[in-house]
Amino acid sequence: MPEQAGAPAAPPFPIAAHAAEVLARLWAAGHAGWLVGGAVRDALLGRETHDWDVATDARPETILGIFPEGEYENRFGTVLALGVEVTTFRRDHHYPDHRRPAEVTFTDDVDEDLVRRDFTVNAIAWGRAAGAPAGSEGFRDPSGGRADLAEGILRAVGDPARRFDEDALRLLRAARISATVGLRIEPATHAAMTLHADDVRWVSGERVGIELRRMLEAPRPSAAFRILTETGLLRPVFPELAAQIGVPQAKAGIADCWEHTLRTLDAAATVTPRDERLLLCALLHDTGKPATMEGGHFRGHEAVGAVFAEALLARVAWPRREARLVGRAIAAHMFHYEPTWTDAAVRRFIHRVGADLLALVFALRRADDTGSGEELPDPGLTELEDRVAAQIAAGMPLGIGDLAVDGHDLQAELGRPPGPWIGEILERLLDSVTNDPARNTRDQLLMDARAWVPRPAGGKDASEPTR
Ligand code: ATP
Ligand code: MG
Repeated sequence: MPEQAGAPAAPPFPIAAHAAEVLARLWAAGHAGWLVGGAVRDALLGRETHDWDVATDARPETILGIFPEGEYENRFGTVLALGVEVTTFRRDHHYPDHRRPAEVTFTDDVDEDLVRRDFTVNAIAWGRAAGAPAGSEGFRDPSGGRADLAEGILRAVGDPARRFDEDALRLLRAARISATVGLRIEPATHAAMTLHADDVRWVSGERVGIELRRMLEAPRPSAAFRILTETGLLRPVFPELAAQIGVPQAKAGIADCWEHTLRTLDAAATVTPRDERLLLCALLHDTGKPATMEGGHFRGHEAVGAVFAEALLARVAWPRREARLVGRAIAAHMFHYEPTWTDAAVRRFIHRVGADLLALVFALRRADDTGSGEELPDPGLTELEDRVAAQIAAGMPLGIGDLAVDGHDLQAELGRPPGPWIGEILERLLDSVTNDPARNTRDQLLMDARAWVPRPAGGKDASEPTR
């Protein structure tokens, strides 16, 4: 094996075994193989690296020949091999829709491939050229990405205005990468983002959703949203959030409702382990305020906010089930606990919120308090949390499944055909048992049900349980 004459140079950063294997196979076949993209950027920063990307001069069909286990991943001929995205060096041409190039052509020049990339820190390659000997591995960095990385700067490759005009997704990537990686956006890049902010409308909801998820992963997610705010991206992407700008808040030292939201979001980000639902709740919990503001109050904002939050999440193709949970938690976040609450009131609270959402709603309230400038945890909240835990530990019924009767029992006892009445009666029984758990016996519940079920036409309705 002649190309094995020298040993490959030791990589300047840790490389995952499967990525090293992809490079080795490309090199052994006489092709160029370069690690590129976010993985190189993150590895150089000593950050945890995932998603290795490799660029090569080999054409897609050749890549598939070298990696028979690989498969095409997109229409530009990227091959997924050993979990690594292997892409032929390419140039992009003409972006007719501010999103995707109409056409790409292949090239043998790694530098050409690098300069089509979005940011200098994403345009660094480490590897080896076609036919180059083992030991000649090194960097290609035609736009000075390593220097920018060392200074902590996110800079567009080439003419920033043109780069954002070509592909509006880069606007969101800039905000996301700046926040997650901790890079300052270089002034000309920032100015170009502002200039082209409205182009963000070309980005599909689904792509916005992907970037939103990544923004929430930032150490301080507010950083991403502050960039969206400064550059004018917030309004076209998330009008529900932009509407909070300038909405006054009766909270010391907090300029407006949007600032309160950003602080709440960062408070939610301190919870470990990270909880994406909580972060979304924090981000969206006050979206109902602008529409409900009246006389310094925001009455009912939580219900309106739940609707806005779910609509926003639907627009960015968020999983429906998750969006529904977030909406429910937002709708439940404005309770007012008093120590005078009876245990029955605590149990009714548990039902209103839903046992599955209690932890989320408490966490949201804590973040909301922190975001309002409260320095100490609210003792009332802790007390309610303890009382909730005590009621659940005491075995209170949490759903109709915990009742001492089920739908079959009701049908058999009342001799009626199945229908919506069963669910209605079970819910009503649950309310009754929530108020007084001692009623959760088969005899008592069947007696209650008999009293509530409408008599045949002409008969009299007994609408209250007999006591
Ligand atoms: P991460 O994997 O952390 O999301 P990344 O930078 O690797 O970040 P990918 O979407 O995996 O993002 O893209 C890989 C590389 O492809 C990027 O680093 C960048 O060089 C290039 N790239 C991705 N999207 C674009 C784009 N819209 N315009 C130009 N170059 C892009
Ligand atoms: Mg990547």
